[in-house]
Formats: sequence, C-alpha cells, structure tokens
Amino acid sequence: KSLHSAAKASEGKPKKKIAVMTSGGDSPGMNVAVRAVVRAGIYYGCDVYTVYEGYEGLLRGGDMLHKMGWADVRGWLSEGGTLIGTARCLAFKERVGMKKAAANLIEKGIDALIVCGGDGSLTGADLFRSLWPGLVEELVSEGRFTPAQVAQYRSLTIVGLVGSIDNDMSGTDSTIGAYSALERICEMVDYIHATAKSHSRAFIVEVMGRHCGWLALMAGIATAADYIFIPERAAEPDKWREDLKSVCKRHKNKGRRNITVIVAEGALDKDLKPITSEEVKDTLVEMGLDTRITTLGHVQRGGTAVAHDRWLATLQGVDAVKAVLEMTPDTPSPLIGILENKIIRMPLMESVKLTKEVATAIEAKDFDKAISLRDTEFIELYDNFISTTIKDDGSEFVPENERLRIGIVHVGAPSAALNAATRAASLYCLSHGHKPFAIMNGFSGLIQDGVVNELSWIDVENWHNLGGSEIGTNRSVAADDMGAVAYHFQKNQFDGLIIVGGFEGFKSLKQLHDARPQYPIFNIPMTLIPATVSNNVPGTEYSLGTDTCLNSLVNYTDAIKQSASATRRRVFVVEVQGGHSGYVASFTGLVTGAVSVYTPEQKIDLGTIKEDLALLQENFRHDQGENRNGKILIRNEQASSIYTTELIADIISESSKGRFGVRTAIPGHVQQGGVPSSKDRVAASRFAVKCVKFIESWNNKNTGDRSKDDKILRFKYVNGVKNYTVENESASAAVICVNGSTVSFKPIKDLWTRETNVELRKGHEIHWKEFNRIGDILSGRCNLRKEV
Ligand code: ATP
Repeated sequence: KSLHSAAKASEGKPKKKIAVMTSGGDSPGMNVAVRAVVRAGIYYGCDVYTVYEGYEGLLRGGDMLHKMGWADVRGWLSEGGTLIGTARCLAFKERVGMKKAAANLIEKGIDALIVCGGDGSLTGADLFRSLWPGLVEELVSEGRFTPAQVAQYRSLTIVGLVGSIDNDMSGTDSTIGAYSALERICEMVDYIHATAKSHSRAFIVEVMGRHCGWLALMAGIATAADYIFIPERAAEPDKWREDLKSVCKRHKNKGRRNITVIVAEGALDKDLKPITSEEVKDTLVEMGLDTRITTLGHVQRGGTAVAHDRWLATLQGVDAVKAVLEMTPDTPSPLIGILENKIIRMPLMESVKLTKEVATAIEAKDFDKAISLRDTEFIELYDNFISTTIKDDGSEFVPENERLRIGIVHVGAPSAALNAATRAASLYCLSHGHKPFAIMNGFSGLIQDGVVNELSWIDVENWHNLGGSEIGTNRSVAADDMGAVAYHFQKNQFDGLIIVGGFEGFKSLKQLHDARPQYPIFNIPMTLIPATVSNNVPGTEYSLGTDTCLNSLVNYTDAIKQSASATRRRVFVVEVQGGHSGYVASFTGLVTGAVSVYTPEQKIDLGTIKEDLALLQENFRHDQGENRNGKILIRNEQASSIYTTELIADIISESSKGRFGVRTAIPGHVQQGGVPSSKDRVAASRFAVKCVKFIESWNNKNTGDRSKDDKILRFKYVNGVKNYTVENESASAAVICVNGSTVSFKPIKDLWTRETNVELRKGHEIHWKEFNRIGDILSGRCNLRKEV
C-alpha cells in the first residue's frame, strides 16, 4: 500500500531529480543503500544522480554528479565501504560553499538530496535545506540564474539515512553498518579467545565508539567479555581498578582461563579522564595476568555488509525515495530509522539534537542522562551485562524462599544461538540465586533417560559462540509421553520452564499448557524462545538462528556469484531451507539481488518461469562483459512439489538456447550450523534474560495468594507440596515475540488459536510480504511487467 502511495504521490508532477550521497565515515551497507535509492528512484520515474566524494563533490559539481542507470549499481550489494566515495569537507560548513553546492544542484535540475552519513553530515544537510531559499535568491540576484530558471527549485527536499558503524543516532535501533562492524569485532575476539585460552592470557580489545558504547557493549555481551568500559557509563575514578580486579579474579576462580576486557575508544571515568587500554592493561598486570592489547582499528569498518545491514539499507533506501516523493516543502526533513523490526521515519533534526545531547550530557558529567538518551534496548542490555557478568558475586541474590528451579530444554532442528540463549539464562539465574537445569536431549531424552543436569557457571563457559546444542536437541515433543514428562518435572521440582526451539517447541508449549488440568505440575510459568533458521514460529517476526543462517546464505551466494565471474553468463538456482515458510528465501532474495524468488506463498507456474527467462535474457542482453557476476534464483525447499530445483534449472537451461549456463546449488545444513552471528548472540541474551524475568514475575513463593490483577500464578504450599489454583493461567505459558516495533510475551493459547497454520507449521501472517515486492522492484521484474 505504501509503495503504491509513493507512486501516486509522483503522478502528474514534473520528473523528480534526486541526488544521493555518502558522507562522513564510511560504513558497510552504504553501497546497498545507494543501490536501493538508484533503482527505486528509476522505478518511480525519477532521474537519480550519485554525488562523488560527499559534500566535496557537491561543491565541485560537473562530473562529480553522475546520472545513474539501472545497471550502474550491479554487484553493489556485496561491496564494502562506499563506491561513490566520502570525504570531510570544511568548505561546505560555510555559506559560500553551500551556495556553490546549490548552484551545482540547480544546474542539473536536482532539488532532492538523500544523504547517508552520520550526525554531522545530516546536520549539514538540514542546515542546507533551511538556507536553500536564501541561497537561491542570492544566486538570482547575482545573475547566475534567472527567476524563471529557479522557479521549480524554491525548496530543497532532504532525507537522511544513517550510515555509521557506531550506532550512535538517537531514535533508531540500528544504523547502516553497525551490525557489520559488530560481526567483525566478534570474529576477531573469537580468534583472540583461541590464543588467549591457550596461554591463559588476558586481552584488552579496543573498539571504535567515541561517544557511543554500543559496539563495546554488544561486543561485550556477544563475546562473553569479563568487563567493558563505555562512555555512557563512566567508571568511578577511585574504584574501577579494584572492581575490574575483583571481577576478573572471581571469574578466574570459577575456572575461566582467559580474560577479555572490551574498551570503547571514548571510555572515560567520572572526572572525564579517558580510560586507556594501557591503564587497563597495567591494572591486570598488577594482578599477575599476562596481558596484551589489541586495537582493532579500521578492520571494524571493512568488509562486506552482513545480512541485517543489507536488509536495513535496502528497505531504508527504498523508503527514502518514497519519502522524497511524498514530502511537501513544509514537511520536516525525515530520518529513516528502525525500531525493533519496523522501518520508521522521524524528524531528522530531533534525532540529531538528541544524539548531540548524549555528548553534551557526558561533558556535563550527567551520565544517567547520557545513558537514558540511548534506546531502551541499549539500557536493557547494559543492565543484563551487569547482572550476568559483573554482579555474579551473590549481591543480586533474591531471598532464599524466592529462589527458583528453572528447566531449559532445546526442541527441534539445531539452529545457531541455542547455546548462547541457554548460557545467558543460566548466568542470569545463577547471579540471582536460582538454579538452572538442562533437560538433556529434548523431550525424548527426558522421557527415555530422565537426565536433568544442574548447570554451573563454568558449565556454560564458551557457549556464547558455539553452534549446535550442548544439551542436545531433537524434534520430539512433550506429548510423546506427557505422563513421563510430568513425572520428571515433579521429580526435579521445576518452578519454570524455558523451551528454546522452533515449531516443535511451539507445539510442545501448547501441549504442556493443555495438559495442565491433568498434570498440575505444568502450572508453572513456561516460555518459548523461538529459535529456528526457518523463522516460522507463529506470532513473531524474529527467531534465533535466522540471522546466522541468512549470513551464511549471503556469503554462500556471494561466493557462487563470484565463481561465475570466471565462466560468465551463469545462472544459479539456489535451494534454501525454511519448510513451508518462504521467509528465508524472500529475505535472501532481497539481500543478494536475486532475479527471482520461489516461495510456498507464491505459487510457481510456467508463467513465472517465463518471466524469469525474459528477465535473465534482458540482464544478459546488456552484458558487455562488465556485468560478469552470476545471476541467482532462490527457491525455497518446499516451494512446489512439481517445480523442483532441478526442473527449474533444466527448463531455464533448455530455453536459454545456449545464451547462459544454469547450475543448481544447495547449501543444505550449512544453514543450521556454524558460529552464531553477533546479532543472534545479543538477541539470545536479551530474550533469555527476559524469559527468566517472566518466570520470576509469575512465581512468588512469599505471596502465592496474590490477587488476579497481579497476574501471579496462585499457589499455596499444602504439606510442603505446591498446590496450584491458577488465575489467568494461559498468559503464564507464552512465547517471546517481536512484532514491528514491540517485544512482548504472547500466550501460546491465543497464538495457537488465532495465528497458527498447524498443517503448514507457520503463522497465518506473512510479515515478509513486502520483501518480495521490493525485491521485484530492485531486480527489475516490475519494470519488465511495466508495473507501477
Ligand atoms: P561520522 O559519524 O562517521 O563522524 P559524520 O557525518 O558525523 O559521520 P562529520 O565529519 O561530522 O561526519 O561530517 C561529514 C561532513 O558533513 C563534514 O565534512 C561537512 O562537510 C558536513 N558537515 C558536518 N557538520 C556540518 C554542519 N554543521 N554544517 C554543514 N556541514 C556540515
């Protein structure tokens, strides 16, 4: 609908000319954003120009503003940095400089500018917009243009995209490039861990972030660091050394071999004195640790963008074009952001102002304000890090009679981050005096062997980056023998359950909930953390493991596309997992620039394949050798029982009449395994802690008789045995869900009845529908259909 409204907004108006530029520090994903702007712009009937070298190019004009064709951005999805260049340009800060820039834009007939950069670049852009009418007036009075020549250019449209690895912009959860930088950091720290462990060494890893600790905080969580230093939570000048030593000593005593401390480059103490890696090192050396410093530097900016950033930059780039078409001269300049999973627009200057306030608050030593200006996820994750890692000394123990026994079980096919979630839940439990128990080998393990292991701090060591499942997982469900499951729950006296898994986990939660009348032991709070590569758990848009799977598919398709550069004119039909859910296929298609995506949701027929052929022929027709990469078609494994991957490949091959070769490629189980992505690790930690808190909130042994409004499971001890009279019981068995901009616990009962397609093992809602449409626009399929 919104794609359509953009098309409508441009109807009957003179052809819009849009310029897009990258400015400030480069970040992975900037090229992806430019590609999306160029193609969406052309699709909506605009002329799109790229500006080379940021504001410098705007000032120089001429060839520095280059009109782009559809094919000019081929292959840009997988290119790191920015291909149109970026620069710092002092002259643009002066009015004279801005006037030159205005003249150059008017000369080309451009009156809309999409800027991808940090807060400096965006401030400059907004200032440029506000000065624009005066600048135009001056250009007329100086005789550079006649009033008639500028009549169409009385106002300038500005739209901001945040390209920054620091993730420092207020009001948006992530910026283009931040997750790629985080991924690089985690990869490097994982490498460092291997050597650090071998020698029992301590490593201080310095990461980027002058005024923002996002990278350091997320890296701290994702790499299981022992301590972090970030600017928003300045350290106590007289105390941090002792605190650091006592935490490291405690972790060593618990059995950890290597110590990791992450220091943001802008870390400081409460007197605003920078905390340097050298100082941290000296402190660790004092306690006898063999300590090294690694400053990651520009490695963090390098490389190709991860799946998340490609998705973010693509959707935001398209939305930026829509915003240009929908804006009037009175609309405040928007910034395209994201909240949880939802692309949003917000007033650019408000976000820039809030962002600048963080630095001001830090300078004023108002650190509570500084952290409060970060988004809620930042604050939540910071608190989680403190309570799982720093306050693991018993200081957060709840009273004895509130301590819980929490079972954790993995259900379904393996996906990355099962271990990371279990580790985070266990650490949070342990630092609060609860006991975490691993139910070994899924429900069938419980039914057959009944092995339930209490997890200690050192048991979950290193689970943050281990793929697979350390406690075992399989597809068996609770109802395979509900009596036996109830017996073992009773025997282990569980006060709560966390299931980590996919659709079978979802089903098991429903079965346990339904069995409550028969087996009162199931009247405990129970949660599901969706974890499956297919992302097919009803009610949520995010499952752990999906991001890791998408990253491996992005790397896989990049590699096969590149292999095709040797042979030229090669088409790959790539078969991806996802069961009856086309999410993975649609997402992969969008972020790898697939020519076509076959999903169970959109029936394949000969008409679709004919269209693909036409599109491939069109692609190769313009191929003069510069477009050497292969073309990709993505097919979900269950897209059709007739049009198999091989059949599609054969039909296309046969019909190509030798113009191009076709191959199939099936990545298979690579999608399920591997090291979890940094995004999955962080989400695992967030969801796991939320689940334990959910269980805590439902259990209250002290006041087991609370009123219904408190939403507490009501139970009393009768002869030492829990006797349940449950109020509002269905809400106590719930799935942690991400929907648009919210994260919430949704009762399994409601999800099952309202949102589940049991037969197809997925939700009714196809929340990724837009991906296919945008994918079709950016692949040129919509142009071919002449759709607007
Ligand atoms: P990063 O987050 O990587 O530092 P940034 O966009 O904040 O990115 P800056 O160096 O602050 O990077 O700004 C990039 C360019 O934007 C500057 O070189 C300048 O040309 C322009 N710019 C920045 N601030 C202003 C301003 N207040 N007025 C006009 N132009 C500005």
